Formats: sequence, C-alpha cells, structure tokens
Amino acid sequence: MKAAVFKGSGQPLSIENVSKPTSLPDQIVVKVAACGVCHTDLHYLDHGVPTFKKPPIILGHEAAGWVEAVGEGVTTFKKEQTVLIPAVLTCGQCGMCRQGRANICEKMQMLGNHMDGAFAEYVRVPARDVLPLPAEVDPVEACIVADAVTTAYHAVVNRAQVRAGDRVAIFGCGGVGLSAVQLAALSGAVVTAVDLDEKKLALAKELGAVETVNAKGSAECGKEIRRRTGGVDRAMECIGRPDTIRQAQESLRIGGRLCIVGYSEKPVELSAAKIMFQEQEVVGSLGCRPVDFGRVLDLVRVGRLRLGPLVTGRRPLGEIGAAFDDLRAGRSVRTVILPG
Ligand SMILES: [Zn+2]
Ligand SMILES: [Zn+2]
Repeated sequence: MKAAVFKGSGQPLSIENVSKPTSLPDQIVVKVAACGVCHTDLHYLDHGVPTFKKPPIILGHEAAGWVEAVGEGVTTFKKEQTVLIPAVLTCGQCGMCRQGRANICEKMQMLGNHMDGAFAEYVRVPARDVLPLPAEVDPVEACIVADAVTTAYHAVVNRAQVRAGDRVAIFGCGGVGLSAVQLAALSGAVVTAVDLDEKKLALAKELGAVETVNAKGSAECGKEIRRRTGGVDRAMECIGRPDTIRQAQESLRIGGRLCIVGYSEKPVELSAAKIMFQEQEVVGSLGCRPVDFGRVLDLVRVGRLRLGPLVTGRRPLGEIGAAFDDLRAGRSVRTVILPG
C-alpha cells in the first residue's frame, strides 16, 4: 500500500510502498477514507518535536474510513462498516481513565506518533475507542472530528465550561478555533473571534461569532477586547503562541477563565496579580474523552455542528507536501488527504 513516511524533522514526507497491515487480536484494520492535515504534524516536520515511535513512521491522526479486517476478539465491528478513529487511544485502566479523564490517559497512544498513522491506504488500530459513524455522516468530512472538532468540544464544554450568556473570546481561527467558535455559539455564548486572516474571520462569523477582531499582529489586542467588551468571561487560545496566550489573559474580566488549547514549548508570561487579585483562572485542555465523541457526532448528524466549511481542501496522498505548504502559509483551515 502507499503511505506518507516521516523520516525525521526537516525532511519532506516520502510517499512509499509499504506492507499493508494485517489484523491482530483486539485490533481492526481500517481502509482510510480521509485523514486531516494538522498543526501537530508540523511540530514533527518543522520544529523538531520528536515522535514517540522513532522514524520511519507513518504520520496522520485524524482519520475515518471503512473497516477492512477485524482481529480476533473484536465483536463490535464488521467489515465495511464506516468508522471514526480518535486521534488518541486510551488504556481504560490507569488512574486518569478511571477518574473519567481518559483524554489525559497516562498510557495514551496517539496515531501517527506512538504508532503508524493514517496518511496511508490502510491503518491498524486498537478497536476499543473506535466509533461507528452514523450513516448520514460523510467519512471524508468526519475525519476532522477525530481531533480538531473534539478537541474544541472538550475545551469549550469541560474545561472553559462556557455557559449561555458568557462572553467568549476565541484566539485563532484554524480547525480547532473555528470548531470552538461553533460550539461556544451553540452553548449560547456571545463569541468574539480573533485572527489575522480576514477570510478566516468571515468564516468565524458565518459559524456563529457575533463579532470578529483582526489582531493585525497588535500586542494590544487583548486589552482592546477588554476595553470594548468590559472583559470576557472566557478566553480560549487555540494557536499556541506565548504572545497570544498573554493577550488572551488580558482580554479577561474579573473572575474570568483562560483556557489554553494551543501547544507551545516556550514559557509564557502571565499576570499573577490578576490570577490572585481578580481570581482569574488558567486551565489547559488536551484532546477529548472517548465518552464525548458520540455527543459530537450527534451534533454533526443533526446538522447543528457543521464540518463542510472547515474542510477547505481535499488532496490525494501524492500531494501531501502541498497540503502542508498550504497549512504553513495559513491558506487552509483543514485539508484532508484522500489516500485511496
Ligand atoms: Zn491534529
Ligand atoms: Zn489510561
């Protein structure tokens, strides 16, 4: 089968013929319909963040497709069924899993990081956390639920705990940010979307933001939002830049909560005075619990959560390099790769 193989940071993905995975006990082999191109992959490709499995490794962690083969002991799936593969697979047995916090499972295994991923015609995964896709949901669009959309769900619902009537500022309108805009708006919040790109801001408005702010690289953008709104109840940073995380805190009102959804390896300067004197809270958010995936898919199924506008490109596996170039240049929200 064809696959995009990662050989090390700074090297382009190489399209190669590799052997097709065979079924193992408790695992299934999925024929990949589509796999989303994500910023996390750029951390490996461009920024030297190591994958847990040493290269060569097949990247790709936002996948949906059809069951190709079922391993011994798997009773919940049958061949040709449409499925969604969560980006992170959990153990179900560690302390965090047992406390209902499986998104921070101590033994988590991420597709295209701990094991070969889905920038390939077929991928093999443990069956435990895989979800059947409702018949009404297109697997090509649904693949982004595996990470971008569910990450936003956990952040908005469980970590930021957005409530109806909250003012919410969302910094960064990529796949996660625009999903957060939709979910916060669905929760009844008054959403301000922040980005540098007018097209993405227009999309944010279409998806439920009440107002948009073009930060234009201004370091004062957070303060400006606080002046204009009186301060937001919830600020969500969906980029992973120390500067933007600081600005997000500056947009908060007294008693507001900052939710960090973007990843940065660099330290961030925040106002401890505001955390103490204004009882501001800072929380992080990682991924999504398997138990919430069904809720997200249900929102998609009934048309309350829209995936179509987020999938801005579809490319065959051979054009994966161009798909990453689009992501680097900020020209795409989500490009999905169609390996078949
Ligand atoms: Zn991702
Ligand atoms: Zn666990």
